[in-house]
Amino acid sequence: MKLLLIEDEAQIANLVKAGLEREGYAVDWIADGLEGQRRIELYHGDYDLVILDLMLPGKNGIEICKDVRTKGISTPILILTAKSYIDDKVSALEGGADDYLTKPFDFKELFSRVKALLRRPKDRMTLELVASGIVLNPSSRRVTLDGEEISLTLKEFGILEYLMRHANQVVTRDDILFSVWDFHFDSFSNVVDVHINHLRKKLNRGNRGDILETIRGVGYRINATTEEHVLKA
Ligand code: CA
Repeated sequence: MKLLLIEDEAQIANLVKAGLEREGYAVDWIADGLEGQRRIELYHGDYDLVILDLMLPGKNGIEICKDVRTKGISTPILILTAKSYIDDKVSALEGGADDYLTKPFDFKELFSRVKALLRRPKDRMTLELVASGIVLNPSSRRVTLDGEEISLTLKEFGILEYLMRHANQVVTRDDILFSVWDFHFDSFSNVVDVHINHLRKKLNRGNRGDILETIRGVGYRINATTEEHVLKA
């Protein structure tokens, strides 16, 4: 079991991390909101649970929660809130959190919430995306084309996953930049085109033609046939 802890107060983070590690869990700790969100987006398949503080440098926990849920990530999230205001609890749950815990808490209380969340059935592990003969597994990060494994870089994987989640739709460069890169990108650079070209070369095998379609002046598209079921995690 692996957990991601996003908390800026070192004292609390150390207590939670040490306590959970004593119980046999692996815990990755991140102190910044933006960095935490990026970690969830890229590696959510690696984590069984995210423990998320609300007041964070970079980005607020509720915003992070809403954003990752909008992107179809269903990893359980336990919110830690310093405030006992009912508003925070309501917005945490409305934002897609699975549970919340008010600070100060004792470790026993946290641990019982964690155990309860980890007992919930995992519906996210088995879903795969399928389009144009490509099978992409977001959890194992494996990609095959006509049954043959393709090796992709992190960015290429991110772009392909995004295109496949939006199969049969035209996605723009900005859509891809926003979903795959961090928030400090230069939107006038050709970074997306460069990665798209690499990805396209890896996908163009045999006599299939161009799997990754360029819609001139707009963006890109991957097509899924009616027999291919596009599953959204
Ligand atoms: Ca905090």
